[in-house]
Amino acid sequence: MIRFENVTKHYRGTSRPALNKVDFEVLRGEFVFLVGASGSGKSSCLRLILREDVPSDGRVVVLGRDVRTLSNRKVPYFRRHIGAVFQDFRLLPSKTVFQNVAFTLQVIGSSRAFIQQAVPEVLALVGLAGKEKRFPHELSGGEQQRVAIARALANRPQVLLADEPTGNLDPATSVDIMQLLARINANGTTVVMATHEAGFVDQMKRRVIELKNGEMVRDERHGGYGDTSAIPSLAPEPERGAAAVAALTAVLELQREAAAMAGTSLPVDSVAPPWAGEGRDLTPEPVAVPAARADADRQPDAAPPREITRPQTQPVPVQDIPEVEVAELGVADRLGLGRRDRDDEVGPTS
Ligand code: ADP
Ligand code: MG
Repeated sequence: MIRFENVTKHYRGTSRPALNKVDFEVLRGEFVFLVGASGSGKSSCLRLILREDVPSDGRVVVLGRDVRTLSNRKVPYFRRHIGAVFQDFRLLPSKTVFQNVAFTLQVIGSSRAFIQQAVPEVLALVGLAGKEKRFPHELSGGEQQRVAIARALANRPQVLLADEPTGNLDPATSVDIMQLLARINANGTTVVMATHEAGFVDQMKRRVIELKNGEMVRDERHGGYGDTSAIPSLAPEPERGAAAVAALTAVLELQREAAAMAGTSLPVDSVAPPWAGEGRDLTPEPVAVPAARADADRQPDAAPPREITRPQTQPVPVQDIPEVEVAELGVADRLGLGRRDRDDEVGPTS
């Protein structure tokens, strides 16, 4: 679905390449974390996937298209298949929530009827039903990011790119957004997320690609953040330990949901996400809380790592994200979140 073949990216006026012989492939349905210190090349990778830039050497192939050979005229059509969200949300401040999402669809020529139906559905999906008429400044940061995610999903992209999507959010809100992204992925959308959030990466046990000075130093199927020494220590945040526990709880809940979805909503013959059917990874295990551990490294008075086991009988308390059932909303197919057939991989320029 996304293939980097020995990709090198040199920016003009710089001596060291931003990316140096980076080589990986992301399969359909995967959730991949792109990690590494600031300046390691994460955003450069995402920009190449979006074809905001082209490689200096090597090939980037996205949805079967070599981005370098894609003519400028075809780029807008290509991008319809790729949603993107960023740390700074990038909403249009003078447009309402509804208009922000509708605008993307208007630009690509969607019919009025489609927009009137699709926008409320995708807003409900991200938990923003009832907030259609608000302006961005009337929303919390987490809500603004949900609008951005809704906008990215409105055209049912096959791939969702997220560049530090929780970078401007507090820990608890970050958990909500992480949970939403994981749910979107569990419904079939390929997600590539660049992040510094060691806690999420460690808990999710998804594929981790690590960059260091533009070089790929790790590609681990069920990885963690790895070396956190490059992350600058933050000012002490008392709620961080609590947020880590909340994150763990939310992630375990997600894994439960993912297991349920893998068993019910994905057709047997579909190209299953890498985690599907791997019951071993979805069964509860005692897990240390990495955020607490990372804090312990930085803060002498922080609590020691804790061992937490998912409750066996009681429902796991989740954050206040509305339990929107994708199937119930009946929008799964339209948003590209539902069943997918092996043959539905539409070329980007179709
Ligand atoms: P990350 O997202 O991991 O922080 P980036 O991909 O933004 O890393 O940057 C990788 C390297 O490329 C950095 O050294 C950065 O300064 C450099 N870089 C990024 N964009 C440009 C640009 N447009 N022009 C010149 N250098 C750039
Ligand atoms: Mg970046």
